[in-house]
Amino acid sequence: MASVPLGIRKGRRAVSAQEKRVWFRTGFGPLLQSKAMSTPEANMRQIGRRMLSTKAEQFTESVIREMTRLALKHGAVNLSQGFPDFAAPNEVKEAARQAIADDINQYAITWGAKPLRDAIVEKFARTQGVTVDPERELTICCGSTEAMMASMMAIINPGDEIVVFEPFYENYGPDAILSGATPRFVKLAPPDWTFDERELAAAFGPHTKAIILNTPNNPTGKVFTRAELEFIRDLCVRWNCYCITDEIYEHILYDGTEHITMARIDGMRDRTIVINGMSKTYSVTGWRVGWAIAPEDVTQSIRKVHDFLTVGAAAPLQQAGALALKLPSSYYESLATTYAKKRARLLSILEGSGFTVYKPRGAYYIMTDISRFHWDEAKYPAESRDVSFAKYLVEKIGVACVPGSSFYNDPQDGASQVRFTFCKKEETLAAAEARFAHLHV
Ligand code: GLN
Repeated sequence: MASVPLGIRKGRRAVSAQEKRVWFRTGFGPLLQSKAMSTPEANMRQIGRRMLSTKAEQFTESVIREMTRLALKHGAVNLSQGFPDFAAPNEVKEAARQAIADDINQYAITWGAKPLRDAIVEKFARTQGVTVDPERELTICCGSTEAMMASMMAIINPGDEIVVFEPFYENYGPDAILSGATPRFVKLAPPDWTFDERELAAAFGPHTKAIILNTPNNPTGKVFTRAELEFIRDLCVRWNCYCITDEIYEHILYDGTEHITMARIDGMRDRTIVINGMSKTYSVTGWRVGWAIAPEDVTQSIRKVHDFLTVGAAAPLQQAGALALKLPSSYYESLATTYAKKRARLLSILEGSGFTVYKPRGAYYIMTDISRFHWDEAKYPAESRDVSFAKYLVEKIGVACVPGSSFYNDPQDGASQVRFTFCKKEETLAAAEARFAHLHV
């Protein structure tokens, strides 16, 4: 089958995700156990459950972010969540301090401070050759996470479908559920994470509202080529739909790979929503400054959603962003060079420790396959091996990773994979290497 509509997986997933992730959810316990239903306390919980949103009940908390909490709890080396553990650029930090000192401490214009919008537009034109109107086609949000959610809520109607490449960044699942879109998944196949053109074409149809693209890609490190983007463009034009493209890793590229924004592909300027942010490029994931670039009518809708979700991103950090986006091209070159060294280092650590690695062409994650380890079938059932392995690794070895199932609609599809990040200091990577010396599965 080309793809799995959410409607089919919904009931199955609610239970299987709960069973599968019970390790991650010790605070909740198995609410569906019939034995417990007869107690007054359990009945109250049942009533309580009915009071909650059925949308929110369809997904779990983020496993990526939970892995960070577990890493802290167990004193593990955290190679799970993608945030740098090294310093942000001094001049960017200084600009934030200065903005606060200058009393840029009240709300910015809800859709973004003018100096940051101008800087984004100038940089997009300089690096990608795409001209955008800062007054009508850009919305600054609280991180690219909000930009993505606001964009989906701005365009989705009941019955709309979205096409999502799989494995996918965990957030897109809840984004789809909360906005009401039905996802149709299309597989990216290792080792190069290519897609089958017929499978992709079959996922589009009259109900398709958008395709979600993420290039450079998390978790695979795939960087979509111009030919692939043009193939996707043809489908978007044929079915009259949008492309929402998450380009947050645009400057983290290896092996001479080029990032091409979908907005630059002929015929896509007016049907592309570009999601981006400061987090990864300037190593400030905690600042929560992101944005959505979209055609005027879409932007009007995004701005309304954004205004009532969050009013606006932190004003002094937007001010500092205006400076960050004007950094010279040498800054981006050195960012990519630094990450290339870290990529090489973690690839060699993981290979040396028994993982099969898929070399990323961009972003800062390595997807691995764990099938080559020796597995005790009783302890590690194949269908949830990624979760038991991640648990073993964080608790017993002292390294945190993300279970592969977090990136798939059907958890079994990711059961032989785990993801590591290398946006970490050399000493952090070295500490992981030392701990892997004890890895015997
Ligand atoms: N993008 C990061 C990751 O995949 C996490 C982002 C987040 O937690 N908001 O690890």
